Amino acid sequence: MSIIYVCRHCKSTVGKLEQSAADETRLGLSDLNAEERQEMVELQQNGDLRIQTICDDCEEALDQNPQYHELDSFIQ
Ligand SMILES: [Zn+2]
Repeated sequence: MSIIYVCRHCKSTVGKLEQSAADETRLGLSDLNAEERQEMVELQQNGDLRIQTICDDCEEALDQNPQYHELDSFIQ
């Protein structure tokens, strides 16, 4: 299976991992509550896991323009 990290803002692929099985602790998913997991982690039809994250570009943009956080729900 593949684990694909996708930026939730610009939808670009941030990273991709090939694993025989998902290790939730290593992926940092064990710290999330059920609601966060449902929001962030999406199981694809082909068995891949898609994890929503934020890329460096968007993180930088948000740092400089914190008001974008409030617009987030409108963009999606
Ligand atoms: Zn981005």
